[in-house]
Amino acid sequence: MRVACIGECMIELSEQFDGSLVRGFGGDTLNTALYLARLGVAVDYVTALGDDAWSDEMAAAWGREGIGLGQVRRLPGRMPGLYIIRTDAAGERSFHYWRDQAAARDLFVEPGAAETRAAVATYDLVYVSGISLSLYGESGRAALFETLGALRARGGRVAFDTNYRPRGWPVREVAQAAFRTALALADLIFASVEDLDWLFGAAGVDEVLRHRGRAEIVLKGSTGPAPVARVLHGTSDTWVPAGPVARVVDTTAAGDSFAAGYLAARLAGLDPEAAAARAHRLAGAVIGHRGAVIPRAAMPDLDRPGAHS
Ligand code: ADP
Repeated sequence: MRVACIGECMIELSEQFDGSLVRGFGGDTLNTALYLARLGVAVDYVTALGDDAWSDEMAAAWGREGIGLGQVRRLPGRMPGLYIIRTDAAGERSFHYWRDQAAARDLFVEPGAAETRAAVATYDLVYVSGISLSLYGESGRAALFETLGALRARGGRVAFDTNYRPRGWPVREVAQAAFRTALALADLIFASVEDLDWLFGAAGVDEVLRHRGRAEIVLKGSTGPAPVARVLHGTSDTWVPAGPVARVVDTTAAGDSFAAGYLAARLAGLDPEAAAARAHRLAGAVIGHRGAVIPRAAMPDLDRPGAHS
């Protein structure tokens, strides 16, 4: 089984109280690739970087996590995108981006794009998010969708995670059209009810549920204090609640790790409901730690139900 995650990882700068900046790296699909690799799935990250020192360090860090680098294109003279996390006096975090010129945005239009497209169409499973869709512009997005169509024609599967971020899109209608195309192409849909409400308004959940039966759907929301995943496949429709998390420290990468936990379990042959339970357990461990990437030692043993990290 060969899996690819398509998207962008950026340089992350976290502003400290004294104004100094601490550097890290971050990106939603990269988080999913990283957790897939930690769960033993053979996964490649599909993106473009520059030829600068930060790009070198990023690629090296991904490699150390066991992520395949064969589809990481390096564009001469370009750089990765960058964002700063600012924390105000009340502890509220805000995100500020410099990413319009990022190398990753040209992945499907740069001179080597034909090679990337041909390679992507050969995977067994390709994972993209709503943030991935927002990177490429109309022509890049059309190329991505064509590539996903070619992949499916060869028997490969597409997983789509909604991840809607309004500021990544010029106007909401463009995002709506792109999401509708991606939903129609997806064999497996991870959707958050909150994302769907923002993007489509009250009819958001229906936009996803119209694909029930054809696609496997995991709809994440909450019916009370605890999150629940509604899992639909075939004629089955089941609610899988998340277990309690002792202390929620930082919800960064909750959805990204959830997707990784779910996909790894499905690829290992578990049924969708069992996969959702594992996904909750991984996400529960991730939100118990600061940052998107938890220490390896804190990874829960997903093969042992009830085991705590
Ligand atoms: P995102 O906003 O990143 O998509 P979600 O809010 O959809 O993340 O949460 C993804 C998963 O993270 C949930 O399905 C659940 O497994 C876990 N999670 C998030 N918040 C909590 C919480 N308060 N208690 C337990 N699990 C949680």
